[in-house]
Amino acid sequence: RPKISTGGGELGTISEDGGGSRIMVFVRLRPMGKKEKEAGSRCCVRIVDRHDVYLTEFASETDYLRLKRLRGRHFSFDASFPESTTQQEVYATTTAELVEGVLHGRNGSVFCYGATGAGKTYTMLGTIENPGVMVLAIKDLFLKIRQRSFDGNHVVHLSYLEVYNETVRDLLSPGRPLVLREDKQGIVAAGLTQYRAYSTDEVMALLQQGNQNRTTEPTRANETSSRSHAILQVVAEYREKVSGNVINRVGKLSLIDLAGSERALATDQRTQRSLEGANINRSLLALSSCINALVEGKKHIPYRNSKLTQLLKDSLGGPCNTVMIANISPSNLSFGETQNTLHWADRAKEIKTKACPVNEETQQVHESETDQARLLLELQKENSD
Ligand code: ADP
Ligand code: MG
Repeated sequence: RPKISTGGGELGTISEDGGGSRIMVFVRLRPMGKKEKEAGSRCCVRIVDRHDVYLTEFASETDYLRLKRLRGRHFSFDASFPESTTQQEVYATTTAELVEGVLHGRNGSVFCYGATGAGKTYTMLGTIENPGVMVLAIKDLFLKIRQRSFDGNHVVHLSYLEVYNETVRDLLSPGRPLVLREDKQGIVAAGLTQYRAYSTDEVMALLQQGNQNRTTEPTRANETSSRSHAILQVVAEYREKVSGNVINRVGKLSLIDLAGSERALATDQRTQRSLEGANINRSLLALSSCINALVEGKKHIPYRNSKLTQLLKDSLGGPCNTVMIANISPSNLSFGETQNTLHWADRAKEIKTKACPVNEETQQVHESETDQARLLLELQKENSD
């Protein structure tokens, strides 16, 4: 089986110079759930080594060990995480490097893809005892900022939004749907709350609250909808005055918990649901069309086909360091969904992203106070308060 070629860089690394790279793709297998055990399900997935996943409909673990060759398929990824992998290990392998990049003014995004129940929200948000990538990334960001002497010049803002049924909502301050607009930084949701974060402590509670604001299924009021996509944006801005110049550097990290990738129509066919189904399919279908177009190197990438792909535009085609985590269940009851997830993860490996430049501006400070210098002074004052 051929190993993934990274186009110059080492396997599993993002090129240092931010040169054109590809999406990094990881697979995380979750432990068998209680309900799955009770339903008598067998394990149909095996993490063979650090990179390889083996999927088979017909084998148990012992069959695999006994026969070694069964009807099934091998997939190879940048890393494949077995059931026992901790949240910290997942964070360190998939996202830590992107957080470092953000501090250097490079954009990054991580998205979790997979069927409902496969472990996306666990991976992204996690629990109080086992916080996920969103929380660990912010914690690490603050740690890295503190380790540098210039910490006073860093400002971190968070926003958390949802795309549900082709409607965009602010999860930090729920209200009317937000309108997407294009500005020089790309697609932005107008009026979205930018929460200024000072430490990690407040963040978990904030995100949990935000998650509670995610749209729930009308029939299962306590359950977060499997049809909502949640996007956390972490923006780290750095300003420094060096011999009459103001350096302004901005890095954005987007952490995305996608809606369930299963075919929504197959699970519920009532009228209201089929509309939601059509829309959820529209967003994920648009995502797959974009992935296809990017893999094929097409000139036109159909980002405009859905709200989700508009919002992910700079995460998919770059300039951005992008990571995909495909979540899968070990149960043979989810075989079809797992196969589908691995198929798309395998395809996403081939996406080449554009070179990821550093978002940095240097401006001369003139005799009279420029806006930049005034901002810097305000910032310094704010930090010293
Ligand atoms: P999704 O968001 O993909 O629908 P969840 O993240 O809600 O799925 O996971 C479904 C269930 O499995 C939850 O009860 C969650 O706590 C559990 N779970 C998922 N991944 C893991 C894991 N790696 N370790 C332990 N429990 C997990
Ligand atoms: Mg979820």
